Amino acid sequence: MIKGSTPFVPGPRPNFNRLKSQVPAASPQNGQNGQNAPAPATQSPEDLEAQIDALFGPQTQPALAHSSTTMATTMTTTMTNRRTLGDLVPQSVIPPRAGQQVLPLQVPGDNVANNAEARPRALGKASVSWKSVSTVITPASGFIAGYHGSLNPYSGCTFGCQYCYASNFAKDTKAQDTWGQWVQGKDNAAQALRREVAPGALNGKCLYMSTVTDPYQPLEKKASVTRAILETLLALHPQVKIVVQTRSPLVVRDLDLFQAIEKAGGRVQVNMTLTTDSERVRKLYEPGCPSNQARLKAIVSLHQAGIQCAITMTPLLPVEDISQWIVDLKATGISRYIVQDFHLPKGNTAQGSKRMVARTDAKALEATASHYGLDQAQAAAQYARDYQVWRSALKAAFPSIGEGRTGFQPPF
Ligand code: SF4
Repeated sequence: MIKGSTPFVPGPRPNFNRLKSQVPAASPQNGQNGQNAPAPATQSPEDLEAQIDALFGPQTQPALAHSSTTMATTMTTTMTNRRTLGDLVPQSVIPPRAGQQVLPLQVPGDNVANNAEARPRALGKASVSWKSVSTVITPASGFIAGYHGSLNPYSGCTFGCQYCYASNFAKDTKAQDTWGQWVQGKDNAAQALRREVAPGALNGKCLYMSTVTDPYQPLEKKASVTRAILETLLALHPQVKIVVQTRSPLVVRDLDLFQAIEKAGGRVQVNMTLTTDSERVRKLYEPGCPSNQARLKAIVSLHQAGIQCAITMTPLLPVEDISQWIVDLKATGISRYIVQDFHLPKGNTAQGSKRMVARTDAKALEATASHYGLDQAQAAAQYARDYQVWRSALKAAFPSIGEGRTGFQPPF
């Protein structure tokens, strides 16, 4: 039993006919062969009816009395008055069929909301807060318009990259000024996802995680909000397509889920952002991020495990030895790359860009000046010249390299 969780108390029996109408038709790819079978959503209406009967009693009977001790000790979730099929996903109470994959012993996502240990209030020097949300999918637009939507398990990011454009989306100037020193977790993200979208509705749709936070920033190690979202996608939308964008080796933790989604007929690509070959440069611009070597090792391990991977050089920071870097990158066996330049301020106001595009914050411009030992204007001009050299070398080495917005189009 998860510490801090509440014993299961079955609520009123839901309207079975309405639930049945939400169940997508079974298909050969979605686990009917028993190999993957992660999703109650792919079971037949008869299977589903049996599950509902197990939870709430036969349709002709009154709801189970709350004294069902067996059920109460087996379940670890708060399911009182649940109404939707998404709420009926707990495989933990349904005996698995032969060969069926068994998900962790909780309703996907409830580990965050019901586990105080997963909800710290501070992380090092960073402050942590929590909020409940009604939706987690943001309709895609702009740079990622080709996607169905984006998923952001957190607001804020304690990696705190100097150049991060996401700080523009912080709620006020104080939050922008302290970017990197706070993070807010969406503790009910997985539950919100279950209520927001009918089971199966995301099959075939491509999602991008994340646009304004890193889904594997340090808090994720304790909170597992990202993992809960992935578990929910696997359980209810097994043929989803998802691009995961991160700077963190923690992404390797969820290899099992990436593989399970692939086996269930979905698609996964992990994008690892690697902005330079130089640890000195990395520390200058990304002092809170994992090392270049740790990121490279992580993405190689995912690649070798059969996950589709890309290295995103976005933005490309100053490079020390482009020739050696290309040799090192080729040695990884990864063939997908995306490169984008470091957008320097052009007529921005003191409050920042009004265009909400990737831009350099004042701190990042200072870092560029420091790197080159020039004043900011000269450093910006030198970077622009250098970028063209590095870009040409990368394009020659990796002819299929994507650039900017085009490079970020859905890969499947
Ligand atoms: S990891 Fe991404 S979201 Fe986090 S601070 Fe860096 S650029 Fe911003």
